[in-house]
Amino acid sequence: SNVGRILSVEGLTKRYGAMAAVSDLTFAVRPGEVLGIGGPNGAGKTTLFDTISGVSRPTAGRVVFDGHDISSHSAPQICHLGIGRTFQLNAVFETMTVRENLQSCAYFGTRKRIIPWLRFDRQAEEQADEAMEVTGLQDLAETRASKLPILQRKLLMTACAIASRPKLLLLDEPVGGLNANEIDLCAKVFRRLRDFHGMTIVLIEHIMSFMVALSDNILILHHGRKLYEGPATGLAEDREVVEVYLGAA
Ligand code: ATP
Repeated sequence: SNVGRILSVEGLTKRYGAMAAVSDLTFAVRPGEVLGIGGPNGAGKTTLFDTISGVSRPTAGRVVFDGHDISSHSAPQICHLGIGRTFQLNAVFETMTVRENLQSCAYFGTRKRIIPWLRFDRQAEEQADEAMEVTGLQDLAETRASKLPILQRKLLMTACAIASRPKLLLLDEPVGGLNANEIDLCAKVFRRLRDFHGMTIVLIEHIMSFMVALSDNILILHHGRKLYEGPATGLAEDREVVEVYLGAA
């Protein structure tokens, strides 16, 4: 049963030719939970996000979100239902300001209300303001994305994903490429999202200390399969994880 779960991934398989990037994977996320997903390069983490967010279709199995089977929904439909997502790449609109980036994401990420003669509407403006406030980007509202330092670029990507007011946020390596100080600043933002906004978050991350500190539960993938699933606190004691993953890092 899916009671008490906002997301259920059920027997999910994604094949590329003969190779299964994700293999018969089952897990669930409760509202308000932060789930961290780790695993070596090529473990299938990004493929998993792609199949949940509608970037690609599962080969088998299904994804149930907020009571809807979204396995064959398009990416925009899934976004409109309430899943926000970031990508590993620095995907922002370079020539737009921070505010314009966020208003675009708010406008197109939310189900419409089409008012063609308005560039953006009042609701999109409010949602953009909210996203700037949560991520601390207010002072950079009129700065072009191409001029942002890496930390603020990363935060803008998260801000874009929350600008559509999602019920579930998928973050793909939100602190990848940042130094220790920058990671601390990001951790504060994500903690605020979790604690004050009650945001449900699934995050992929290679930085274990960051992931363990932020997550309630951890899922470690290896060759597209589950290597570990359980509380963040138990991770370091799991022999298999230490040997296959942590030991190799
Ligand atoms: P990383 O930590 O490097 O981002 P990952 O855990 O996100 O790795 P995926 O990017 O999901 O791993 O890749 C899983 C496997 O699927 C890899 O072997 C990859 O080469 C393969 N793969 C991913 N996308 C495609 C595709 N479009 N076509 C063919 N193979 C793919």
